Amino acid sequence: MARRKYVVGNWKMNGLTAALGEAQAIFDAAKAHPAVDVALCPPFTLIGPMLAAAPGAAVGGQDCHSAVSGAYTGSVAAAMLADIGATLVIVGHSERREGFGESDADVKAKAEAALAAGLSVILCVGEPREVRESGGAIDYVLAQVAGSLPADFDASRLAIAYEPIWAIGTGLVPTVDDVAAMHGAIRAKLGERAGSGAAGTMRILYGGSVNAENAAELLGAGDVDGALVGGASLTAVKFVPIIAAGAGL
Ligand code: PEP
Repeated sequence: MARRKYVVGNWKMNGLTAALGEAQAIFDAAKAHPAVDVALCPPFTLIGPMLAAAPGAAVGGQDCHSAVSGAYTGSVAAAMLADIGATLVIVGHSERREGFGESDADVKAKAEAALAAGLSVILCVGEPREVRESGGAIDYVLAQVAGSLPADFDASRLAIAYEPIWAIGTGLVPTVDDVAAMHGAIRAKLGERAGSGAAGTMRILYGGSVNAENAAELLGAGDVDGALVGGASLTAVKFVPIIAAGAGL
């Protein structure tokens, strides 16, 4: 089964209401590329306003708590995201794993909570530079996948984002061969859990310094089904060409 390309913007901790015009421009332009699924994950504060500005758009969170509710000051539950109209959530981003000490078990619990709340999940994995340089990247990432995957999952609502940490926000990108090898290995690992048929339908995104110039090459690599984009997703002028590159493949 052909997998639809999926291009997702992670706005991180960027964006005030004045930025909603960019989101509107992105979702408007995306209509010209119906073969590509496009989503934006703004800060929690902008999810509702973004949906009001772009009704029907795919808008999601960048994280959620694994509990349904309770005394977790500052946190947001998956059901709260769904309640305001979000349809997806990113879990396990390296900035959460590194900056907030999130383990594979934490990420697994968040992914399970998100699926239970009816959200789609983008589960991030990726190796640090020293692991890449030592030649252990594939083993490292596959261990993250194994440790972070929900116990049970609906393959149609779970995507993996391979994001080498050293490529995020640095302008550095792996070779296309390295990306293809990693994505192929992730798909094989997914097959061990979901069966090769279901794994063949799951989308594996690449993330890390994707831009208008390198998008076609990266999105064209074997087993790459889209992109998770940080910096270049903040403006229509930078993000729409990435969507268009996905459409051209
Ligand atoms: C990200 O944070 O998910 C990311 C890929 O960032 P950037 O595109 O800026 O490297």
